[in-house]
This record gives sequence, structure tokens and C-alpha cells, in this order.
Amino acid sequence: MILPDSTELELPDGATGLEAARAIGPKLAEQAVLVRSNGRVQDVRLPLAEGQPIQFLTTRDTSDPDALSVLRHSAAHLLAEAVRRLYPGVKVAIGPPIENGFYYDFQFPEPIREDDLERIEAEIDRELEEGRSWEREEISAAAAKQRFLEENEPYKVELVATAEGPISLYTQGGFTDLCRGPHLQDSAPIKAVKLTSLAGAYWRGDERNTQLTRIYGTAFYSQADLDAHLERLEQAKTRDHRRLGLQLDLFHFDEHSPGSPFWHPKGMTIFNTLEELRRRENRRRGYHEVKTPLIYEKALWVTSGHWDKFRENMFLIPLDDGHEYAIKPMNCPGHMLLFGSALRSYRDLPLRYAEAAPLHRDELAGALHGLTRVRHVTQDDAHIFCTREQIDSELDGTLVYLRYVYGLFGLEPRAELSTRPDNKLGTDEEWDFTEGALIQALDRHEIDYFVGEGEGSFYGPKIDLHMTDVLDRSWQLGTIQLDAQMPARFGLTYMGADNHEHPVFVIHRAYFGSFERFIGILVEHYAGAFPFWLAPVQLRLIPVAENHREAVHALRTRVEADGFRVDVDEREETLGKRVREAEVEKIPFTVVYGDKESDEALAVRERGGEQSTRSLEALLVDFRAEVATIGT
Ligand SMILES: [Zn+2]
Ligand SMILES: [Zn+2]
Repeated sequence: MILPDSTELELPDGATGLEAARAIGPKLAEQAVLVRSNGRVQDVRLPLAEGQPIQFLTTRDTSDPDALSVLRHSAAHLLAEAVRRLYPGVKVAIGPPIENGFYYDFQFPEPIREDDLERIEAEIDRELEEGRSWEREEISAAAAKQRFLEENEPYKVELVATAEGPISLYTQGGFTDLCRGPHLQDSAPIKAVKLTSLAGAYWRGDERNTQLTRIYGTAFYSQADLDAHLERLEQAKTRDHRRLGLQLDLFHFDEHSPGSPFWHPKGMTIFNTLEELRRRENRRRGYHEVKTPLIYEKALWVTSGHWDKFRENMFLIPLDDGHEYAIKPMNCPGHMLLFGSALRSYRDLPLRYAEAAPLHRDELAGALHGLTRVRHVTQDDAHIFCTREQIDSELDGTLVYLRYVYGLFGLEPRAELSTRPDNKLGTDEEWDFTEGALIQALDRHEIDYFVGEGEGSFYGPKIDLHMTDVLDRSWQLGTIQLDAQMPARFGLTYMGADNHEHPVFVIHRAYFGSFERFIGILVEHYAGAFPFWLAPVQLRLIPVAENHREAVHALRTRVEADGFRVDVDEREETLGKRVREAEVEKIPFTVVYGDKESDEALAVRERGGEQSTRSLEALLVDFRAEVATIGT
């Protein structure tokens, strides 16, 4: 072994990190949490590769990302142990460390609520007081399967079936988890654990799978570090879209329709501005706007595969005619029917259908979260039907479009390439082709991405775009999916130039993902201070006194005639209060109109406090320039 100071350490073959640490000193052995070698980290219990440089991470590396990860992942196991004890019958899924914390996914027998986190946290604290140590063992896949079958843990059984390499188990406090590690030696370094929130998560990230409950938390090597972290979160909360949504009068929720926002006039202005943008750009890029039904008979969902894979997230409607119907959770099957309603020739392709219909998904109540997880979803959806030869150019088109859309908002989502899942339809050869086409497209456009192994839809691989909210939760925005399976299930073909029928490919794509989630992300991204073109009220007029009202209303009419959004605050409040409120409402421009003002000289206040005197004409020129930033 070679240590960081270049000294060499003589150890027997197969020596573990812990043995190496002991050879250096007992203190190090006690404090070691990880071994880092050539940029990779491994469990201290594992044998070291021979002749490699190694570095120990210890309990003193309190801000090292790897040292924090192993601590937090260990805390996730404590969480699972606590939940199993408190909720008999619960099923455990997975619990990895993430940026700033960890989570663990569970299937609870009964839904739990945010209030329950306190009780679970207390149980973790109790475990920490008692102390836990982690034991690692390696066993065969068959033995692991048997073990988790006996423990009635179906998710673990499924994970064993797809695990590669040796199967390792980690046990602490009577709880055994299937886990690659690495883990701490014991729980002593975990000085502070905090459970932060609840969310819904699909098993394996596939929305056709069971929805699980995700508990988020974080852990630190010291209470002071946790406190500093919580303080940062508190700051971030002022950007929370749920809070700003109420404060800015954009939307609210009502228990009579959980998970479905009520859009107030101001929120609807944002919604419609995005809708206009969507329509305009679709028109420019050769999409056709269509409208398909909201309710379909069961047979359609069987054909599409949703009945099998997605039924529990669908709102079903039994009707008197003896048939079962469901409200659509996605537009795809309707668009398949539309395409299949006529004979299609190669001359018709590519055919791009766009529709922003309301969709409904039966998310668990515990999983709902503001606008970012709702039951009423409006996707900026489209399906591109094309030939095999057209796939590359159509993917190019979707990626150029994607860059354009996110660029307008200054968003930089992370791209994930989601590859074939275990329950995929179609052959490996077909998936080699569709995955390859997406990879090449990403490469052509020089888009960095990470790979989500097995995270694709059952019908095809996809490029998913992720954004993080103020609570550091990652949400999917857009998606681009390449699909050979669903059109095949619907028997869709086109007539080629050779007079033969050929299979047709479909690209499913959305950029906002859903209007609801996108607006939620935008509220946080801008902290409610929307750019001029998106702001619900672009100009506020404040008459100083009663005798200025007439002039102010004339001004309003004039500015509205140019297509801008104006309101007037003529309440019997002090001038100072009205100006302050315009600021709180984050309105881009405010004009205070008194004796000295005229169309030639307006007292203009910009959001943020900058003041100037401008003529009405000059102000309108500025407004037009602001709007031109998104093109017309
Ligand atoms: Zn683990
Ligand atoms: Zn689709």
C-alpha cells in the first residue's frame, strides 16, 4: 500500500482497510470511515487492491462529500430499522445517500404524514443512544433471495434478482439490508440526524410501478453542521413556491380536490403565457395541435399497457353500459388512435401531434407536494410519428427545441439517459438501437448526461431533464422518449415508397413536463420575481390623490392597448404603503402619478428600487424590448 505521504505500508495479501489502519495506529482504526483509492471509495472492511495508493477518510473529515455520504447512507439504514420497528408490515425498498442527505423508500400499510416524522426521528435518536455497529457479510444470491422472501420483503427480493457481482448484506440492530455499502463501522460518528420531508416516489423511478413513500433526511458529524444546514434551508424556504403562490395570489389548494390547484387570475396569466409560448413554438416547428378524448374504455388501456403497468395511478370510472373507463393519465394512447385512424404514407411523415390536455394521476395523498406533485397534470405533450430514417433528425429537432425552451428561463436542468428496465417490452437488439440513437443525439448536441441504468419506460429509453427545488428535491421536468413498442402494440405502420408496410417510431416529448410543476419550479427559480414577459402584472399605476385617478386610468388604457398587463392601486392607503406593496408583490414597474407627472415625464420605479423619469413613449419602448427577449 502507498499512503498519501508516499510511504509504503507492508501488509499481507488480502488485508482490509481496517487492518491497514490498525497497522498505522489504533486511533486511525477507530476513526476510519472510508478508504479512498484512485478516486474510488470502499468500505473499510473490504480487502485493499495491492500496491495502490490509499487514503483514509475519518470522522474528522466532516465536510468531505464521500465521508458525508457514508455517514448519511448509514443513517438511512437506521431510519429503515426505526420504521420497521414502528410500522409492522412496512416494506423497505432502497435508501441511498443523496446530495445534502439521504432518503429511504417504503411501502407503508397505511399512509403516513409529515407529523409522523418526529416519532420516527425519536426512534432513530434512541438507536443512536443505544449505539449500533454494522456487520458486513457476503452471501449467494439464492441465500439472499431466500432470506428476503422469509422476511416478506418483495422489493429486496426483486433487487437480489437483478444484482450483479457478490451479494453483500449489512446488519445493525436486528435489521439486515441488501447493500453494496460502504458503511460506517458503528453509529458513534453520527452526531445529528434530521428527517426533513416526505414525498412520493415510484418503485425504480417508473411511474407505472407502485408508488412508495420516500422519507428524506440528513445527517452530520456535528450538531453545529446540522444547525448551519437547517439555517440555509430556512432561508431557502422564503422561495418555496407553496408559500409564494399564496403570497403572490397565484393559486391555492382545497381539500375538496386534493392535489389539484385552483389557479387564480394572476397564476392563470402565467399559465396562459406559457401556453402561448408553447403554441407559438410548436407552430414554428411543424407540430399540429390536436385534441383527443379524456376518457377511454378499458380495452384501450390494455392495448397501451397502462392497464397492466399504471392502473393503480389511474382514476377509473365504471359506467352503466357495463364497461369500465378511465380518465387518461397520459396522452399517448389517444394519439396512437389518432394516427391509426387513417392509412399513412411515408409522405405524411414525420407527423407531430401536440396536445396540452388535462391529465389525472391518482397520486397518494402523502405524496402530493404543492405544484410539484399534483393529481391534475397539464403536460406540454407531443408525439412525433416518424420512420426509422427520420429518428436522428427528429431527435435533433427536439434537442434544439429543448435548449431553446430552457434557455428562455435560464434553467440548466441535468440530463439523465434512462436505459432499458427489467420489465421492458421488445428485444435487446431493439433497445440497442433506440438507446444508441439517444446517446448519439446527446453526443451530437454535446449535452452532458448521467446514466440511469434500468430507469427507462417499459416501452423505450428516455432522456429526462431534472431540476432541484429549494428543498433540494430533484424533480423531473422534460422528457424525450424513443418508442418502438407502443406503436407496434397499436399495429401502427406506414406505407413506404416500396409499397410495403413499415413499422413507425414514436418520440414522446415534453419540456415543461407539466405546466403545474414547471410553474412551481419557476416560482422558486425567480423567487417570485418573474421576468417582465412572464409577470402577471407588468406595470402598477399609483395615483397620488383622487384628482390623479382620471389621468392614471387614461394611462392604463394606453399601455394596455399595446398588449401589456397593468393594474391600478387607488386604495385609500398611504403612498408609501402602496409603493411598498408593489415591491412585495414583485411587480417589475411601478409608476407613481401626481401633480408633476405627465405622459412626457413619468416617475418610474423598477423592481429593486431603481427610479427614473421617462416619457410614456420611452417606457413603452423599454417594455417592447423586455418582451422581445423571448422572441415574438
Ligand atoms: Zn446500505
Ligand atoms: Zn407519450
